[in-house]
This record gives sequence, C-alpha cells and structure tokens, in this order.
Amino acid sequence: MDTFIAGNGTHETIVECRKLAEKYIGNKVNGAEVYDDNDGAIVNAIGNCHIDTCWLWPWAETKRKVARSWLNQCDLLERYPEHRFVASQAQQYKWLETLYPSAFDRVKSKIKEGNFMTIGGSWVEHDTNMPSGESLVRQFLYGQRYYESRFGQRCTTFWLPDTFGYSTQLPQLCRLAGMSRFFTQKLSWNNINNFPHTTFNWVSLDGSQVLCHMAPCETYTAEAHFGDVARSVSQHKSLDQDSTSLLPFGKGDGGGGPTWEHLEKLRRCRGLANKVGNLPKVKVGGSVEDFFAGVEKKVRNGTELVTWYGELYFELHRGTYTTQANNKRNNRYAEAMLHDIEYLATLASIQDSVRGTSTGYKYPKKEIDDIWEDVLLCQFHDCLPGSCIEMCYRDSDDLYAKAFKSGAQLKHDALSALGFDKSDTKGTQVALNTRHRLSPGLASLRDESGARIVGVADRNTGINEIESFDAAPLSATASIREIGHDVFLMSNSQYDVEVTHGTITSLYDKRAKRGYSKGLEG
Ligand SMILES: [Zn+2]
Repeated sequence: MDTFIAGNGTHETIVECRKLAEKYIGNKVNGAEVYDDNDGAIVNAIGNCHIDTCWLWPWAETKRKVARSWLNQCDLLERYPEHRFVASQAQQYKWLETLYPSAFDRVKSKIKEGNFMTIGGSWVEHDTNMPSGESLVRQFLYGQRYYESRFGQRCTTFWLPDTFGYSTQLPQLCRLAGMSRFFTQKLSWNNINNFPHTTFNWVSLDGSQVLCHMAPCETYTAEAHFGDVARSVSQHKSLDQDSTSLLPFGKGDGGGGPTWEHLEKLRRCRGLANKVGNLPKVKVGGSVEDFFAGVEKKVRNGTELVTWYGELYFELHRGTYTTQANNKRNNRYAEAMLHDIEYLATLASIQDSVRGTSTGYKYPKKEIDDIWEDVLLCQFHDCLPGSCIEMCYRDSDDLYAKAFKSGAQLKHDALSALGFDKSDTKGTQVALNTRHRLSPGLASLRDESGARIVGVADRNTGINEIESFDAAPLSATASIREIGHDVFLMSNSQYDVEVTHGTITSLYDKRAKRGYSKGLEG
C-alpha cells in the first residue's frame, strides 16, 4: 500500500505492487494453477446462489432472478476453469425450462460438462416441520423425478441451508429418496444454544442415518474473504474427528451467486496459504459430492464421527408456526384434498378391470401432478412459515384457489365414475371414509325433501351405510360484548366466558350451573 500511495497509483506502481505481493501470495494467483497441488487443502469452496423462491419478492421476480443468476454463472464457468457451481430447487429449473428455453439449454450443457451441478433432490427448499409426512416424501419424489428426467441423474445430497428447523424424519426420507448426505448451516444462527458439531451422523427415529455437515464459516453466502477461509477452521467443531469443510460462497437470498471478485480472492487466499501458510488451504474445483465422499472414506478407514439423534431444532425466527394462518390452513386443506383425490381416483381407475364395469375412467395423473407441484411450491421455507411480504401471499392465495377448484372437479369426476352422485337422495345413503383409520362416524345429509338430517355410519375405511336419526340442531348463536376496559364476555347457549387482557378469567357452564373464576372456584 505504501508503494501504491508513493507512486500515485500509476500503472507502473501497480506492476511494482504485484511484484511485491508475489513474495506473499506467489506467482500463480492469476490462474487456476494455484490449485495444482491440493495436498493438505481442507477447505472446499463451492459456488452457490441461494435464490429464495419467494421472500421480499414474488414468484414473477424469482423467475427472472433464476435466469439472470444462472446465466452469469455459465459465463463465469467459462472464464474460470476451476469454478464449480451448485443450484437446488427443481421448481426453479422448471421455470427456466418453460420461460427461458435457450438459457435452460446452456445450463444443461454445463451440467453435462460437470461444472454446473444439481443438488438437493427436492422440489423447493421447503419447510420441514409443517408439511405432512406425505408432502415431505413428495418434495423428494417430484424433485428427484424432475432431475432424473431432465438431466439423467438424481441428487445424492439434500441441500437445505436456510430452513427454520429440521424434522427428525428427514434422514429416513432422504435415504428412501436415494440421498445419504445432508448439508445446512442454519443452526449456527441459534440465539440460545450453540450447536456442538460440524460434521456428524444424523439419525432418524427408525435408525436411518445420513452424513450431515454444517459449514463452519456459518453462512451460505460467504464473500470468499480471508476471514471466511480462516473461520472454516477456527469455528470447526469437529476438528478432532475431521478437519475438512465446505465453504459455500456467492451472493444469495436474492440470487446472484459468485462474482469474479470472489474467485480472484480465493486464488489469492490459496496463494497465501501455499507461500507463507497461516491460513488453511482452500480448494476450488471439487464438488460437494467429492467433499462428502472424502469424509465417508475416512469413516471407512476408522474415523468415528459423533451421532445426533432426533430433530435439529432451530432457535430463532420465532412465530413461524402461527404467522399467516390462512396460508397454513390452505396447505393442510390441500394436503387432505390431494389424499382424497388420489384415493378415489385410484379406486375409480381400477374399477373397470376389477368389477368389469366400462366407465373408461383414466387416472388424471397430469392434473394431480400439477396440483402437487403448486402445493409443494407453497411449502417453500419463507412461504409456509409466513416470513414473506404480503405480495407473496396474494400469489399463494391465487394458487391455492386454482388448486381447490381443479381438485373439486377431479374429486367429482372420480366419485361419479364410482357411481356416487350427490344429487340423488333416494335409496341408501352411504358415507365414504377415505382415511386409513377409523373416523368420526357422524354424517350431515339431506333427505328427499332437501332438509338437513344427521346420520351415523360405521367408521371403517371405505363405504359405510348411514343410519339417520332425529337430532335437534344445536344453536350456533354466540355473542361477544366488551364489559370493561379490555374485558370481554363471550356467550353461547352453553357457556359464558370472560376474557381479560387476552386471558380467560372466568368460565361458566350454563347447563351444569357451575363455573370457574380466576382466584375463585364455584
Ligand atoms: Zn432462504
């Protein structure tokens, strides 16, 4: 810096400065040859661009972000031969394929060359705590199916750096989806407990196990600074078992990914490590799979990693289970609806061969796939947890409305093919229990005159005859009055409930003629 200032930053001064720098970073930092000898390189830098499928922008912007970010990476891959880039979320590939086919072809050619790499195996980087078990399975099914159909390969690493907690079912489901490796870093953001491991075995309730790595640089958007490389060792919590690590670098959340500055900085970090040491050797040019394969090899040769049983609970981002309740309710309704549609459509589609009927009903696979893809999209890790801007929920409301409309039609078609017709109130009335377990057997019906009646059916899976009975409908009238400052009385035919400052302070059962008051039982 002294030389630069003394020479007024002229071109000649810069040449002189570069000569001086060579003493510390060597003379190979202007090319990929700085990585020629990777002996002792323990930090594996990998380019990525976390693109939140929606967050502070709607899906329409995400589609453009994908095209811009990934095309930039194709360009960088041509200029920096050591560069390697991973991208997850099958949905984003599908958007690119549909909206920017020439960009998709370019990405596809880079994937074939092996330096642009698919990762994750899921439809989107989804929440893992609120979707049903079936949805978690479908995230992998639809994701892996897409990767296999377009690129001829499935992913082997579940890549989920930014989700707000990790269900204990994941290792089991990853294994069943063909993935034995898992990457995240989110627990480094915990504000109470410091998660104690970097590289470890993570085990599900059923004993299934994946190899888990949490980047010790504690970010998925590293700027490839000296400090990021240094922290890959100084914050590594499993050094006593294995010192290698991943360093995911590149602009992210809103996409972008690695820049040429990142790649130049990494060359210089490595040059410094080669020449004078005092910094871990960082390696660029390998894949995430190479990193995991290296750890697995050490395990085969006797390295013993620690084991973590159960969920990976995330201690930050509170409120994700209660915010945007309507969106969460839509998710659950859609999951239940899809279950019923698939159950009924399956029965309807096998009926001709089993019962000898000739309905000609065909299982509506494409229509069901379309709904599933939309529901899976809405399980993205900012959408379902409620951390998006309002504009995103207008998007998801529209999408759910479309799913419910299409779903209602599919259900109607399947029921009609099975011979159920809701408008026919003559003859025996039956209840169809689509669940695999006993369900509450009460059914609300209409008699021949159209009047509402109540019936009870056996609660077994499948068709159950309904026996109607007379029942006086309960009054559903309820009232609420403010009887003091922030004190409310809620009443219906059965109860009086007093709520003071948001807390229930008394409850009176009118039929039993008894009640409870805070500090006074009666
Ligand atoms: Zn994110």
